[in-house]
Amino acid sequence: MSITRREFLATSGRVVGAAGLASQLGWLSACTTGAGPNWDALARALRGRLIRSGNPGYEDAALPQNLRYAARRPAGIARCADTPDVRTAIRWARDNHVPLVARGGGHSYGGYSTTPGLLIDLNGMTSVTADPIAGTARVVGAARNRDLAAALQPLEVTVSAGRCPGVGVGGLTLGGGFGFSARQLGLATDALTETELVTAAGDVLTCNQAENPDLFWACRGGGGGSFGINTSFTFRTTPIGEVSIYRCTWNSVDPALLLDAFQRVLAVAPDAFSMRLGFDAPANPRAAVKLEAIGQYFGPSTQLADLLAPVFATAAPTTREVHDVTYWEGKDLLADNEGPSEFTERSLFVPGLIGSDGLGVFSDLLRRRPATVGPSSGSVKVFSWGGAIGRVAPSATAFVHRQALALLSVGTSWASDEEPSGVRRLLAWVDQFWEAMRPHTSNASYQNFIDPALTDWERAYYGANLERLVAIKRHVDPDNVFHFAQSIPTRLT
Ligand SMILES: Cc1cc2nc3c(=O)[nH]c(=O)nc-3n(C[C@H](O)[C@H](O)[C@H](O)COP(=O)(O)OP(=O)(O)OC[C@H]3O[C@@H](n4cnc5c(N)ncnc54)[C@H](O)[C@@H]3O)c2cc1C
Repeated sequence: MSITRREFLATSGRVVGAAGLASQLGWLSACTTGAGPNWDALARALRGRLIRSGNPGYEDAALPQNLRYAARRPAGIARCADTPDVRTAIRWARDNHVPLVARGGGHSYGGYSTTPGLLIDLNGMTSVTADPIAGTARVVGAARNRDLAAALQPLEVTVSAGRCPGVGVGGLTLGGGFGFSARQLGLATDALTETELVTAAGDVLTCNQAENPDLFWACRGGGGGSFGINTSFTFRTTPIGEVSIYRCTWNSVDPALLLDAFQRVLAVAPDAFSMRLGFDAPANPRAAVKLEAIGQYFGPSTQLADLLAPVFATAAPTTREVHDVTYWEGKDLLADNEGPSEFTERSLFVPGLIGSDGLGVFSDLLRRRPATVGPSSGSVKVFSWGGAIGRVAPSATAFVHRQALALLSVGTSWASDEEPSGVRRLLAWVDQFWEAMRPHTSNASYQNFIDPALTDWERAYYGANLERLVAIKRHVDPDNVFHFAQSIPTRLT
């Protein structure tokens, strides 16, 4: 093993539970006494591949989407071929006292699908099987949004999923999963009817309303990586056809004015309407703030244009596209194909209209992004919430954030060779923005925009559902085998 004890403790985040700590220290002492983990045995037992540093494919397989965490290098990557492989990898990690994490699409904002131990990589299992008679789709392992769409498009049915084609359907669903169809169809997790989960004990459980209902409840919003490894997800599909979409840009906006106009449209819009606002924060306080607004509407473009009319009356857009398209054309036009980068994002749910004080703070802080030596960006996104998302009771699934109007997210990204002081200034701006908007929004954050800087993350992500999640965790994983800095703990402190 090339990893030192100090590196391990530095990279494994806040170690929770005594049993988890004991098992990690056991692993460390095994390393230092020379009786290291038996990697050869794991390689022989897998039907898939064990990839270790220096092996072909290691660099690609190790890399997370958020390159901020790229230095956390797995001692081994088990590229599992099927559920028995996942079981083998979990059992091997336990027997050898090696910490483990699951990797689906690798898009964790906080880099929580990386580990210095064993990465249990589901990217050897990515099939999607749609059943047009049953009206279901079964998604295996690390299949991405793009795989799900490719399987559903020929059948003209969909599952409400995310905008980014590369995000893992599993990771997305376990923490909620919103996209442009969520106000109309609900979250991805709301369409989940069954999931197969391999526990820390190596049991393979079917979880649905009838079998293991508590675990099924937890898998719908309790976040990825805490209860076990989900090897498949079965969704109810919904027929779709024509929609309309919009993409409008403003090269120079009064952010408070435009945000207010949009939030007022959203507050009274039908479920069919969705919205994503992206405000570009300039590095120069005197430079213009740019805005891009995009969204989808389950209805004709004439109705969509009518809905947006109050916004267009507030400020004429620089470019304005409102089109009738098929659902699939719309998906492609609105897709975000971002590659890996170093970034951070912090989120806050917006319970209702942001008042004039909050709009003033929003506008002011957008113009305070610091300049950096290399290229960097800062942005604030506002996503529509409500509609069908809000018609599910907060306690009906583990996903508690049912009553919001919108989700706000502030983020920044920078070049990998940026000066550390420049990165620190950018992060401080994000924190300042986030803190300043809190009194005007809420203390609730989106668990899928997982945020290592959040201190009261248990309540912020899970609210009143936290106690039940902790009880389920204690039952299914009493030794806290599945843990990372923000996994569900076995006890509340
Ligand atoms: C570019 C980008 C766009 C995004 N767009 C959206 C969006 O439109 N809507 C939205 O809701 N969210 C969006 N997200 C957030 C996204 O939903 C979360 O980051 C999600 O957790 C990613 O899942 P993943 O499988 O890709 O990531 P991973 O990093 O592989 O997994 C995330 C977490 O879940 C665990 N996990 C993953 N798969 C499993 C499994 N099968 N069983 C058990 N645990 C598992 C991992 O251990 C990790 O803790 C976006 C993120 C990015 C980076």
